[in-house]
Amino acid sequence: MKYRYLGNSGLKISEITYGNWLTHGSQVENEVANDCVRKALDVGITTFDTADVYANTAAEKVLGKALKGERRESLEIFTKVYWPTGPKGPNDSGLSRKHITESINGSLKRLKTDYVDLYQAHRYDTETPLEETMQAFADVVRQGKALYIGVSEWTADQIRAGHALAADLGIQLISSQPQYSMLWRVIEGEVVPTCEELGISQIVWSPMAQGVLSGKYRPGEDLPEGSRATDTKGGANTIKKFMTDDILERVQQLAPVAKELDLSMSQLAIAWVLQNDNVAAALVGASRPEQVEENVKATGVKIPADLMKQIDKALGNVVVKDPKETAKNAPTERPS
Ligand code: NDP
Repeated sequence: MKYRYLGNSGLKISEITYGNWLTHGSQVENEVANDCVRKALDVGITTFDTADVYANTAAEKVLGKALKGERRESLEIFTKVYWPTGPKGPNDSGLSRKHITESINGSLKRLKTDYVDLYQAHRYDTETPLEETMQAFADVVRQGKALYIGVSEWTADQIRAGHALAADLGIQLISSQPQYSMLWRVIEGEVVPTCEELGISQIVWSPMAQGVLSGKYRPGEDLPEGSRATDTKGGANTIKKFMTDDILERVQQLAPVAKELDLSMSQLAIAWVLQNDNVAAALVGASRPEQVEENVKATGVKIPADLMKQIDKALGNVVVKDPKETAKNAPTERPS
């Protein structure tokens, strides 16, 4: 496993980071979740990403249990705040001082740890002054409950404003967590250049486009049993934007590129996001330990320029690049 610095901080994280959205506490049984975490640790993954909202807090609990007894100094644990998890009172979501204060305490309890390495704003809160949010984050850091601050799916302008306030308050905003894959490249135009300038890294979600880039979904064929596309608890809905015949056909054309590099298509997809120097880690999900074992072999892979071009050619116009997509997909008001 290779490790990269997170932004311009001294924190090193595993360039393949294990994430438990849609799996822990939901799609997969707790025993399988535990086996995936054990496998991740065995193959050198030290960084784990979750959120209070995943499986409505159950994912944090499952991860906390699976990591119990591990040497805390050897792990980097990331979680997030924004989406509602409670009985949906007026202050049970967003980035107000109250919700941040309550949420960090709940997350630490569920994760069975005194602190998280990275505490992330899961979305931008249009209803709370950014000054209030950053003050509350600064207090979380000063209380020793989080070491660093990050954001997720913020636009370049929002990141710049948050970073300036964090710097004034003497805390480190060092990461941005956006969706990024061969198929979804909307951060390349604005978010990445801004973050490069500010010393912020990307830790990118759905690098395999939720499994689509593994090539296992073939146009016109039945869905593989037990796959995310068949998961009625949520996965089938979130993956559907990638499940068009055009995308699935073009993804099949990546097979010869993977073969040339002696990689599986999943490994190629993960290696592809890691070619971007501003990416500190690919956040990879898994529903089985064998997937973790396979995916981790994407670490340290170099894809030559001619094959990068071949990938672009194969995918053609199904690649989404418009930087406006970040704002377009963001909530315009605090969710209840
Ligand atoms: P991926 O694109 O890595 O998809 C993971 C899924 O693909 C697995 O659960 C599995 O699903 C399938 N898969 C994995 N490996 C293989 C393989 N080798 N062969 C075939 N199929 C495979 O990422 P996710 O969408 O899971 O997101 C990763 C993480 O990113 C999350 O856990 C979370 O930490 C973070 N995230 C953050 C968000 C945010 O808003 N900040 C939003 C979403 C995710 P299956 O076997 O069921 O088909």
